[in-house]
Amino acid sequence: MEQNKKRLISGITSTGKLTLANYIGAIKNMVQLQDKYESYIFIADLHALTLPIEPKVLEENRKNIFALYLACGIDLNKTTLFFQSDVMAHGLMNWLVLTSTTIGELSRMTQFKDKSQKIKSPNGMDTIPSGLLMYPTLMVADILLYNADIIPVGIDQKQHVELTRNIAQRLNNKYKLDFKLPEPFIPKVGAKIMSLVDPTKKMSKSDQNEKASIYLLDDPEVAYKKILKAVTDSENKIYISEDKPGITNLLTIYSALKNISLEESEKLFNDKNYGELKIAVAEVVKEFLIDIQNKYKIYYDQVFKLKDKGAKKASEVANKQLTKLMKGMGLNNESKF
Ligand code: ATP
Ligand code: MG
Repeated sequence: MEQNKKRLISGITSTGKLTLANYIGAIKNMVQLQDKYESYIFIADLHALTLPIEPKVLEENRKNIFALYLACGIDLNKTTLFFQSDVMAHGLMNWLVLTSTTIGELSRMTQFKDKSQKIKSPNGMDTIPSGLLMYPTLMVADILLYNADIIPVGIDQKQHVELTRNIAQRLNNKYKLDFKLPEPFIPKVGAKIMSLVDPTKKMSKSDQNEKASIYLLDDPEVAYKKILKAVTDSENKIYISEDKPGITNLLTIYSALKNISLEESEKLFNDKNYGELKIAVAEVVKEFLIDIQNKYKIYYDQVFKLKDKGAKKASEVANKQLTKLMKGMGLNNESKF
């Protein structure tokens, strides 16, 4: 019975081409958890406006992320899949949340510090879009609108889920409400997949260097070669260690795609050399990409036919939570229209 199931929400920002890290860190768990939870999954296209983006690029990203979710195993009979911008409540909820936060707590977010540092110029604040600072409040809004219990994300988003818990608690205390305090669901293997060219940095779809990431829509042969060229160390001994981020990253990718533990992978490869490990990882990545890309082709042309059902259901759920908070805050608009 859906009513008795706990709720799950998660989204991916349509800022670029989805990476293998987005799959391993987030989508894989969304797929695994959709049987157990009442699931809401979205394409965070409002979040994609945080940094400048060309309209044509955004349009294409939105469409291919929707199709990729389906290709990776999101099942429309189990999951409510929608575009964030189709559900109007997100924008208004964001404002209600935003007015319940301080600039101090938002500017302490690690993601804001990292991303704003990269685009800071001698003019300082003038090059930092406000959306970068406000990004977490929209994410808090996304979660509270579905009164979710669990948020499958990579480790980089843990802090934003913690902020959501704090704000939910704050709203509950101030307005006598009952928002749930959500928990992040972070995978045991693959919570932080690293860049292939600098394994001390996380793999990100917004990384300018295309060699740093495996994109889910990469030509499988190109992806194969990227793995063979992945930066490692020169010891040529395979074991898991913080001092060996490149090798640990390859073992992690292998484990996640093979559904085995990191220790099992370590055992499999500990008498092998780096070349052998890279070929084995490149093979599983290539096979994985061929499989999802075949399914992707089928879904791509159906996106606009499939999207409204999820948006409608999501809007119903979201409007209920929004109304609850509005009433609590003294914005009771019932029967005014
Ligand atoms: P951007 O560079 O635009 O921030 P991103 O690759 O970080 O892109 P997001 O849309 O911010 O992608 O995040 C989507 C999901 O993928 C989130 O759950 C996030 O935690 C997860 N994720 C992102 N990068 C990694 C990574 N390197 N390893 C594991 N999970 C990741
Ligand atoms: Mg990110």
